[in-house]
Amino acid sequence: MVPTILRRSGKWFASLGKPKNTGTKIFCISGNVNSPCNVEEEMGIPLKELIEKYAGGVVGGWDNLQAVIPGGSSMPLLSKKICDTITMDFDSLIENKSGLGTAGIVVINKDQDIVECMARIARFYKHESCGQCTPCREGAGWMWRILDRVVKRKATYSDIDLLSDVTKQIEGHTICAFGEGSAWPVQGLLRHFRKEIESRCREEPLIKKKTNNPYLVDQHLLENKNA
Ligand code: SF4
Repeated sequence: MVPTILRRSGKWFASLGKPKNTGTKIFCISGNVNSPCNVEEEMGIPLKELIEKYAGGVVGGWDNLQAVIPGGSSMPLLSKKICDTITMDFDSLIENKSGLGTAGIVVINKDQDIVECMARIARFYKHESCGQCTPCREGAGWMWRILDRVVKRKATYSDIDLLSDVTKQIEGHTICAFGEGSAWPVQGLLRHFRKEIESRCREEPLIKKKTNNPYLVDQHLLENKNA
């Protein structure tokens, strides 16, 4: 693109896209699409057009779409309803409480367990946290453990509020953006798939199992040898 910009001028490049969202972007489309690809397109292109024109469409058809992560795994996912009409540019995604990020589009169709997908992403962030900031180091593990309980149908309704609270305790309280990167996907899941999470939770047991263990930083290592 640089030689073309030099030949045709910056003004030409700025005429592409939408106001305040000009130029082009390289989109990397992966997940449940028929032809995963990298493509450079104008900013502001509709997400649906991007997926259908370049990635061969959603596996099982557009109606089989469940959600899309629009800007890499650290960006909050979008529900199908939003995906039907959204355009791929900074402002549109911010308006819908997500972000363009790296423009790494991950398509998730209805054949996938959305909670399990997001638990896997949470596990990645738990693993990758460098550990310097307490909210990120501890919070990333908390989020993964709670989501893992939800996947295994061992979580209670109070875990949902705890999960939400942990994301808020991380967001804005770390020295690098990794903290938000770990919290935002979980916030997106809670925003769009809360009912899905609730359907796997149960009431708090009336009689709780007594454990004398104090909470440990690496408690998950005790709870799950594979963590
Ligand atoms: S927010 Fe960044 S610096 Fe802090 S623990 Fe996480 S990865 Fe490390």
